[in-house]
Amino acid sequence: MKVAVIGAGFAGLIISNYMLMANIDVDLYEEHSKVGIPEHCTGIVSSLTSKLIGDVSKKNIIKKYDGIKINSYENSVKLYTKDPIIKLDRVKLEVDLLNNFIDKGGRVFLKSRIYNLDEINKKNYDGIIISDGINGSLHKKYNLGFSGRLIYGINQEFCIDDYKNDFDVTFDNITSHNFFSWYVPLGNKLIIGTGAEDPKRLIIAQQNAIKYFNIKSKPCNTYGGMIISGINKVNVRNNKIIALGDNIGLTKPLTGGGLFPNSLAAYLTYSLINKGFDILDSLELSINYVLRILKKTNNLSIYLHRNPEIVREIIDISKKSNILEGINGKIDYDLHNDIISKTLKNKNSYKFLFNFMINNPKALFALGDNLLKDFLS
Ligand SMILES: Cc1cc2nc3c(=O)[nH]c(=O)nc-3n(C[C@H](O)[C@H](O)[C@H](O)COP(=O)(O)OP(=O)(O)OC[C@H]3O[C@@H](n4cnc5c(N)ncnc54)[C@H](O)[C@@H]3O)c2cc1C
Repeated sequence: MKVAVIGAGFAGLIISNYMLMANIDVDLYEEHSKVGIPEHCTGIVSSLTSKLIGDVSKKNIIKKYDGIKINSYENSVKLYTKDPIIKLDRVKLEVDLLNNFIDKGGRVFLKSRIYNLDEINKKNYDGIIISDGINGSLHKKYNLGFSGRLIYGINQEFCIDDYKNDFDVTFDNITSHNFFSWYVPLGNKLIIGTGAEDPKRLIIAQQNAIKYFNIKSKPCNTYGGMIISGINKVNVRNNKIIALGDNIGLTKPLTGGGLFPNSLAAYLTYSLINKGFDILDSLELSINYVLRILKKTNNLSIYLHRNPEIVREIIDISKKSNILEGINGKIDYDLHNDIISKTLKNKNSYKFLFNFMINNPKALFALGDNLLKDFLS
């Protein structure tokens, strides 16, 4: 069996590596002369995602954190995760994934932009995977893709020491617009970044984030791109062509993280192929399974992004009702629906709901309504 993968970003690279492991011949096409560029991603993943990526991920760990600090309008709380949260070297990760692919016998065609699948169809592929990213146009030509919500994202690195053990996310509509901002200490440097639904608000939000964290120096590196947060309709497959990655909105709605869902889809595909399922059916089933998980936090994420004052209230009430005692050290950074269910099953959840009902019944109703919509999706 022989497949073509078009686009060697993270999605194309991870599926190519897993397909090779399943003894499938893979030809990987990439328009650039190198992989990992243009740089855009912060590179924060859970330990689970790092395991799914495999040994290549271990070599690219820059820092580990024991949790995440969530801020909203001067209120904050620290959440401890079960396993460390990991910051990866995203550029080198892609280079190493490509080298691993080549070492294991994969064929790569760099500087090869595919404009039309007829160009490669003569090679008689059994399947074609288009992983051309959010900016790619090829998937659209074959009626593949998604409709959903896009956020403009920016990352700026500052060459300042910070050896803290957690990183911050801030929900406030000052340091971001209908999303959140982030502060990631890396030891000898740090990253400040933000997202904005309205592109006109991106730069001012980033300036506010830099002020909020009291950084006075100039950035030593700036990069960014489109973040996908929330998907409506998705078209994954057109006969023997399947789309994968940002082009079908395969990201976590709350954070826009794409490494977890793509790694999970690739791993599940590999497992199904090994059980004897057809390659393309395995991939389609796996993608749809992961999309279903992601959709379980779709409406709630958008509601929280657009109503950061509710995040402030959740932090406040969580502290008052001791709800964190029951979940701290038990949650996974990537499994957002699991965080919600662990919170609701917590022995103090009744105190949390009661306090919320007294403080802000309207917001509690809105949260419940969004949770229900997600549950029923
Ligand atoms: C600011 C920002 C921060 C982020 N932070 C995180 C994070 O902390 N954690 C996380 O998990 N995710 C994060 N993400 C999301 C993550 O980076 C993406 O989900 C992931 O990189 C998407 O990979 P992809 O392969 O689908 O797309 P891309 O990385 O865009 O790759 C597509 C590739 O296809 C190539 N291509 C396109 N068209 C063609 C063609 N016709 N022929 C040949 N090649 C083609 C392109 O050159 C490119 O190399 C972040 C994203 C942004 C923008």
